[in-house]
Amino acid sequence: MRRGFLLNRSLSADNKSQRAPKPKSGDEAHGLVDKSRPPAGAAPIPIPTLRTQSISHHEPQLSALTLGTQVTLYVVHLPPPPSGLGSAEHTTTCVLLSGQTPHILAIPGFPCAPAQPAIPRLYDLRPVPSALSASSPGSPVVELGLFAPAVLEPGDLVLSERPLLLTLRALPAGDAPGMRADDLLERVAASMPAREQRAFLGLRNYRARDTRYSRARGIVDTNALGVGALPGYPGDCAVVCELTCRANHSCSPNAVARWDLPSFSIELRARRRILAGEEITISYLPELTLPRATRITLLRESYAFTCACPACSLTGDAHARSDARRAALARHRSLVYDDAQFAEWLAEPGEEGAHKVVAACEAVMAMIDEEGCIEDVVWPVCLHWLCKANSVLGREEEARARARRAAGLARAFTGEDGGWVKVADDPRMTEWWCCRTKQ
Ligand SMILES: [Zn+2]
Repeated sequence: MRRGFLLNRSLSADNKSQRAPKPKSGDEAHGLVDKSRPPAGAAPIPIPTLRTQSISHHEPQLSALTLGTQVTLYVVHLPPPPSGLGSAEHTTTCVLLSGQTPHILAIPGFPCAPAQPAIPRLYDLRPVPSALSASSPGSPVVELGLFAPAVLEPGDLVLSERPLLLTLRALPAGDAPGMRADDLLERVAASMPAREQRAFLGLRNYRARDTRYSRARGIVDTNALGVGALPGYPGDCAVVCELTCRANHSCSPNAVARWDLPSFSIELRARRRILAGEEITISYLPELTLPRATRITLLRESYAFTCACPACSLTGDAHARSDARRAALARHRSLVYDDAQFAEWLAEPGEEGAHKVVAACEAVMAMIDEEGCIEDVVWPVCLHWLCKANSVLGREEEARARARRAAGLARAFTGEDGGWVKVADDPRMTEWWCCRTKQ
């Protein structure tokens, strides 16, 4: 990992000795007096810092990881089925290690109610037009996709749902009959409640014609979303959902799925504005910044389809520019936000440094937008710095606009605005507001 996000040499190399303190008391730190600062005694609003959070993405091939044959797995239904009738929330059939269930039940408030969309149904499930379809040849299942019935804004919750199935990604490695992961998953599917079982068996299986894999195994490998570790065991888990797993892939996805442990549910949220009638897409890739050839190869190998998304359909110079932009964004992913460097910039005379930082961050955000490559690492840094730099320059509307965008993206990736709404409401109340001497 390298440090030095966005700062080019002209901004940082010659100013090591001029590092400025953070402007907690800006007047004394910078010898300035600015009448537009927050009133004395008012608590400043912090500009939210980088909040990376691994997002859910498809992680196929359970066979890549195996447990020893001596472990004991249990099939349990979580949350525990309600004692009364009439609950609309179904439970999830889970494959867990012995002793893991009490750790999950001990989560404070478990299970919280899943978040509810502002409007009851913000998706339509319908066949995908052939021009958009990326299905494998001869797939016996009609390709369905999720479509937006109305305009969705960044951060809007499209749907939340308890998974049909949750399983450890590492399953027993034995080849003996009954010990194979395929057999285990068949038994798990057979133990599902009738409605959930129908929904599970109705999902796409790109391995339907490959007799080496059981039906349940093929469905899991085709649809699984990685959710990381659960309490009680550090190994990764994966879920299969009735609706979210209907979202098709795009290398410029307009939505993102995230796992919410307290409610034991998957949330699907818009990561950019989605127009009415537009297909809602997510990414099946570990990284969106990969070049097209690598993306296509990975998707072919993992899911047996050839991506025909807009980014993968570019030709000639447009294709080369797209790969170049994604390569640049990949470089930015490896950089680490460092507040000390912002202070270095702050110590420079005049406002030239501020404008350079703004220009650099805006250029990166433009690449993100051109590629539709809104992932969870680069935008938090860019928008943090843009909001901070514009606040330092006293540009209220610019700071507010970046804070609003960050609030929507924070909701998309974490479920919460992360404090960005407060900043958007009143950028003048941040500790960075006009803290730089205007010369
Ligand atoms: Zn693509």
